[in-house]
Amino acid sequence: MNIVLMGLPGAGKGTQADKIVDKYGIPHISTGDMFRAAIKEGTELGLKAKSFMDQGALVPDEVTIGIVRERLSKPDCENGFLLDGFPRTVPQAEALDATLSELGKKVEHVLNIVVEKEELIKRLTGRRICRTCGASYHMVFNPPKVEGICDRDGGELYQREDDNPETVTNRLEVNMKQTKPLLDFYEAKGVLSNIDGQQDINKVFADLDALLQSSQG
Ligand SMILES: [Zn+2]
Repeated sequence: MNIVLMGLPGAGKGTQADKIVDKYGIPHISTGDMFRAAIKEGTELGLKAKSFMDQGALVPDEVTIGIVRERLSKPDCENGFLLDGFPRTVPQAEALDATLSELGKKVEHVLNIVVEKEELIKRLTGRRICRTCGASYHMVFNPPKVEGICDRDGGELYQREDDNPETVTNRLEVNMKQTKPLLDFYEAKGVLSNIDGQQDINKVFADLDALLQSSQG
């Protein structure tokens, strides 16, 4: 069960990733975790990645793909894996295919959690943080008892710069533009499934699960 999970920020990817991993016992491989692990283990590629990150530069594809290859070769990926945050571009997707084919594997499912832009904006701009303790709230999904005030310590809640509507909208648009060619690439390969992410969390998972079940066997 080799899965690539896709979805824009706010689509609920993290929540669904946790559920899939729990149910199917496959590792959740996010780009960030992979880099951190490679750096911690001090692998040659990890150190290379670190040198770029220390300069604030983007890690080049060849390094990223090397790290992905090392990770996917580990024994815990034998029965499958859930990739999250990689690939981001068509060249990365092609490199992933090449790598997997060397390992005798392929991407079997690309699960794309679809949520409309307006809903994503609502989700992403609703976050509020406590100035005192850093607790996180959401005006719609997890509101404090008193508006603008932290339940724990009475601290003032504020909206992070990253969460203001303009920044959020811009981030989403950039993301959509980048993702489109990748979705087209996987669609052409016949492995893409779009899942309605605008439902209850458990219903979204039920849909994902049904999809994975129906293809097993
Ligand atoms: Zn607080």
